[in-house]
Formats: sequence, structure tokens, C-alpha cells
Amino acid sequence: MKFIKILFFLLFVTKVLLADNDVTKYSKAIQLLSEYIGIESVSGNENEAAYFMAKKCRDAGFVVEYINDQPGSVNFAASLYPLSWGKPNIIFHNHMDVVPEGKHENWNYTPYGGVVDSGKVWGRGSMDNKGLAIIQFFAVSNFMEIAYEKELPFNVTILFVSGEETGGETGSMIVSNVLLNKFSPAVVIGEGGAGMDDLGFLTKKNPVFGITIAEKQNVWLKLSWKTEVAGHASIAEGDYASMLMINGLHKLLNSSMPVIVTQEAQLMFSSLGEVVGGVKGSVMKKSDSKVFRKIIDVISRDDPEIRDLVTNKITLTSIDGGTPTAINQSSNIESAFLDVRLLPGTSVEEIIAYIHEVVDDSVLEIEILTEGAASRGTMPEYFFDMLADALVGEYKNSKVIPMLFPASTDNNFFRKFGVPVYGLNPFMVSGEQLKAIHNYNEFIDVEDVDRGISVFTSFLSKVLDQE
Ligand SMILES: [Zn+2]
Repeated sequence: MKFIKILFFLLFVTKVLLADNDVTKYSKAIQLLSEYIGIESVSGNENEAAYFMAKKCRDAGFVVEYINDQPGSVNFAASLYPLSWGKPNIIFHNHMDVVPEGKHENWNYTPYGGVVDSGKVWGRGSMDNKGLAIIQFFAVSNFMEIAYEKELPFNVTILFVSGEETGGETGSMIVSNVLLNKFSPAVVIGEGGAGMDDLGFLTKKNPVFGITIAEKQNVWLKLSWKTEVAGHASIAEGDYASMLMINGLHKLLNSSMPVIVTQEAQLMFSSLGEVVGGVKGSVMKKSDSKVFRKIIDVISRDDPEIRDLVTNKITLTSIDGGTPTAINQSSNIESAFLDVRLLPGTSVEEIIAYIHEVVDDSVLEIEILTEGAASRGTMPEYFFDMLADALVGEYKNSKVIPMLFPASTDNNFFRKFGVPVYGLNPFMVSGEQLKAIHNYNEFIDVEDVDRGISVFTSFLSKVLDQE
């Protein structure tokens, strides 16, 4: 048995060592991405990755300005012109931190190897979010020379931040506090939607790109049940803490969250309606109607991804039982932790009231552990149209729709200041690729990096008037 284990280990090591990782035959972008993936930057340990990218930016001619630089919280801006010039600014945003890689043996390629194989760059952060950073870097670099030669109508900045994966407190929260007076923002473009061509409800297999105009707000809650009954389990009635918690959570997690079609979702569905066409399409186009609300309620019961767009979501992430001194003693306090994702327009107070109403237990106490930034969506304007034009230019026959993103990103930190904020990974993603985010075998296609650079380059050509 031991021998077999050793054999497997050796096979794994040889596979990793023998993986052809001569990246010099690829473009400069792929080479840099491979190197960047090689610098481990799990949230809280971004500094090395930050200094690496800051140097690359300086070498490429960017003006690099640190917003702050502390261990575990380093954030910098790389711009065509100094921020002090106060020029209206097109701001790209990316995060340098990654989530932990988990067990190495579950990866086909070593997670920080930046291995390029089968037309893909493999490794933690390749897709989320280092690939996007490299795309932004090379697209903006294309305007470096011309920015020296003459004064362009906009500054262009790439913001590299820490701590996105842990809620943004060490990154975008700090940066967004100086957004208005330091950056003169015209628009912020961060991570978010992408192109998909495997959407089941589409008859024509043309790619559909979603540009994020709104995200859900993340809130972490601690629910505690405290009772006076704590003692010998043989005399405990049904009102001891663990029983109350189980019953309360059962009610909460089995309650059907009410369907709310926000104005952001309405915009998304009606734009999709244009794409879908036919009878289905005309129903979707009337996304503000009661009929639509009823239909989406029924359809989404079997489709969790659609459900996420029209409901607040409550997920039980863990429970923390009390620590009785003996197995026959029940504890008098039990806690449960909830990850809650709120639709734009639903407040934290409203969801807490909802939980109290459903659980209906006077001993329940709810504490807010963390609360992400809340914001209504950006209504598509000039920069949305320019991004859409650039996408359609690169991906012929594609359609672009505004999108409500069912998860949370840093974008809300910036959106709350009333600046237009969009989320876009300017390339196609597959279902397989989406599953690999925050998971094993994360990858980005080599081709997508190059096409992404083309999309942002053509977007900048339009808005900088350099076509
Ligand atoms: Zn990300």
C-alpha cells in the first residue's frame, strides 16, 4: 500500500517536472502572466506580487503611485499621467490577491507554476484575477507612446488592489475613500461579466457578453440561540439551545425567499429578451410586469442561477456548537454563520427582520460580522456603449447585455460614489472555467488573453479618440 502511494507521488512529481513550461514561445502577455501566477499572493500576502507588478508598470512607462503600502495591504495606481494632473480618468481595476490553492494533489499542474499547456495558462489566479490584470496592462501600454507625444483627453489608470477575496477592507475600501479627490474618475471597469455561448435558452449560438452593472451585497451574520437551560441532557425539554437552533435553521433554510425583480434585473432580462426574440423574448421584454414576476418565480425554482438574480440568498456556512464539558450535558449557547447576498435595494435591516420573522424565536440574537458596500446599479451610458462596441468588433455577431452579477466584487465600493462602474472580463468563459474559479485547475485560455487585450485596446482607441 505504502509502495503504491510512493509510486503515485513520484508519478505526480514527474508530471509536474516534465510539464513543458517553456513559455518563451508565447506572447509577452502570456509570459508575464505565467510569471505573475508564480508569485503566491493569498489574501494578506500580496506585497511581493504588488512590488513585482509595480516594477513592471514603471518599466513600461507608467506613473506608479502607492495609495498605501503596509504588510498585507498594499494598493497602487499605474497611470499614463500623474494623478495630480486631475485629468478625467478611465480606471481599470484588478485585485492581486488569490484564494488559497487547497490540496496540491488535486491540481493537474502545480498551482503556482504558471504552466502553459494545451492552449491554457494554469494556476491559482490565472482567471481570478491575474489574467485580467495582464490584459489591462498590455491594453493600456499600447497608448504609452502616444500619451508622451500628445495630451490625450483622458488619463488611464490601472488600480492594483489587495484583499478583494476577503471583503475589500485592505484594498478597495481604502482606495475608494480617496476615489473622488485623488482619481477624478470618469468610469471604473473591474472584474465581472464575460462572454458565454452555451446559454441553454438561446437558439442561435452567438456569444452573449454580460457587462456587470450591479452586484449583490455580501453580509456575514452570526445567529445565536442562548437559553438558560444547560444541564443534564436527560432532563432537558425541547427548549435547549441546540434544538432551538436546529428548528430555527430548518425553518429559515427551507423558507422560499420572495422573488424581487429589481430595476437592474429588469434591465438585464429585457435586454436578453431582445437577444432571445420570439414569444419568450417578448415576455422577457416586459420584465417589469406582474406576469413576468410570476413566470420567473416558477422557472427559477428549477434553476438556481436564475433564482440568484431575483432573490436574496442565505447560505449556512458553518455552525459553532457550544462546548459542553460532557456529552450528556447540553450547552446553553449555539451559533450559526450565514453568508447572505442581498439584491441591490434590499437593506441589511430588512434581511435581519426577515430572518426574525421566519425563525420566530425570542431567544434568537443576530450580529452583523461584516457588511460589504451596498449600491444601486449603474444605468448604462456612454462608456457601456463603447465597451459593447469594442466587444462586438472583436467577437462578430455577439450581443452585449447589462448584467446583474449574482456575487459580490469590489465594484460596489466605487459604485456607491455615483461614478459609472462596470465589470467585464473581455473574453469568453466556459462552464468548466467558471467551476474552476476558487477551485482546483483554474485556467485562462491563451487566446482569450490576446483577444481581451484587443477588446480593451479598441475600447481605449474609441474613447481616447485615436481610431
Ligand atoms: Zn476576483
